[in-house]
Amino acid sequence: MKAAPFEYVKPATVDEALQALEDHLGMARVLAGGQSLLPMLGMRLMRPSALVDINGLAGELGRIEARGSETVVGALVRYATIESSPVVSERLPLLQHIVQYIGDRQVRNRGTIGGALAQADPTGEMALACLVLDATIVARTTQGERDIPAADFFAGSYASVLEPEELLVAVRFPLAPDHCRFFERGRKHNDFAVLSVAVAASRGAEGRWEGVRIGLGGVNDRPLLAEAAAAALEGRTWDDATIDAAAALAMEVVDAPDDVRAGAAYREHLVPIHVRRLLRELAQGEQR
Ligand SMILES: Cc1cc2nc3c(=O)[nH]c(=O)nc-3n(C[C@H](O)[C@H](O)[C@H](O)COP(=O)(O)OP(=O)(O)OC[C@H]3O[C@@H](n4cnc5c(N)ncnc54)[C@H](O)[C@@H]3O)c2cc1C
Repeated sequence: MKAAPFEYVKPATVDEALQALEDHLGMARVLAGGQSLLPMLGMRLMRPSALVDINGLAGELGRIEARGSETVVGALVRYATIESSPVVSERLPLLQHIVQYIGDRQVRNRGTIGGALAQADPTGEMALACLVLDATIVARTTQGERDIPAADFFAGSYASVLEPEELLVAVRFPLAPDHCRFFERGRKHNDFAVLSVAVAASRGAEGRWEGVRIGLGGVNDRPLLAEAAAAALEGRTWDDATIDAAAALAMEVVDAPDDVRAGAAYREHLVPIHVRRLLRELAQGEQR
């Protein structure tokens, strides 16, 4: 099937893009890497009145910048750029590691961080990384800009809190925790995840863990932080009993779907196993 007719707009500046989104009264769609949007248009799952192609805006939206302790990644930064960026390697190793699990080389050459977040796939690796790294998503309209914590950004399956006239312009990452680990179970390498888990924390005085964050993908309608599990680990040293208790608490946010990739029971079975495994790896000092 072919896409329904739409107007094609190629703005030369971000301001022009914002104006085009406003002019189309919420009926236009932003075209970034096209890796999710174009298949959806082809299947007529979407019939936007216009596509606002932001691929000419790399000067404004395609940069990775170190600003003090913060790292700012423009919405149009492609997965492949994240994979090879020395700034990301030094400051956000989890983000760089996680990107390797997304699609194949062709997808990573085109797909963008902004597109991945706006797509809000409940199994999306980029979404999980942004949650665990406590990122802030920056959205703009002709009226101004707002900051949305990643923890408040995902509203449901393939749904975010972005308004139709809003352009996601950047993602801001604070200083990353010292230790991060990621695990993903898929049907095959680079397929969409059945379950993904990311954990992050820093080691403070007397071996106590601080800033603990545990993110789960594929086990609810959106990627989520297992907050009760993280709270049980915060400010403490970890032994097997502490880790086992946290892994059990992680189940509090699990409401796993049954879908073509896996059954709910299988996903639920995997969660405590892999949360426990990643926490043990952190406690044993393996860094990523
Ligand atoms: C074969 C294949 C395998 C894949 N495997 C994976 C995988 O393993 N894991 C995974 O997470 N994803 C996977 N994907 C999806 C891929 O990650 C997409 O690239 C991503 O979901 C969307 O990024 P994009 O830049 O291509 O956005 P587009 O497809 O251009 O846009 C996606 C959506 O986001 C909106 N949008 C884009 N940019 C902005 C912006 N700046 N502001 C506001 N709205 C915006 C669009 O309007 C559209 O609704 C796969 C895709 C393919 C084709």
